[in-house]
Amino acid sequence: MIEGGCFCGAVRYQIAGALGRTSACHCSRCRKAFSGASSAYAEIPDGSQFSWVAGESELTKHPFAPGWDLGFCRTCGSTLCGIVDGRVHGVTLGTVDGDPGVRIEVHTFVGSKAAWDHIGGSAPQFEEGHTGANAGGESK
Ligand SMILES: [Zn+2]
Ligand SMILES: [Zn+2]
Repeated sequence: MIEGGCFCGAVRYQIAGALGRTSACHCSRCRKAFSGASSAYAEIPDGSQFSWVAGESELTKHPFAPGWDLGFCRTCGSTLCGIVDGRVHGVTLGTVDGDPGVRIEVHTFVGSKAAWDHIGGSAPQFEEGHTGANAGGESK
């Protein structure tokens, strides 16, 4: 069971299965929306059961890309999830508790990363988008 939640603890979720594809988009929009160097995002595969444990009513949405909303805690502002067609599509890795067993698979929009951002690890880096990664809906 994977669990996670926001900074203040009001909003909590759990995922019964494993996380799916992971990516970190370093574009300027993702840096703002995810308040960090990148989006650091994991998709939830169809077979994995996502559920809110607490504070679903505290979740607020903001449009991010066509068809996409991001879900935030209205109290502390943590970005918790991507919402596509009203369904939770994936979670921000920064809100996952402990080690969920996945690693960042691709870095996208590295060509526009922040000057202070140093990308470590061995995952492939793409100057722009990559078809295998759609965190934030940036890549086409
Ligand atoms: Zn919160
Ligand atoms: Zn991005």
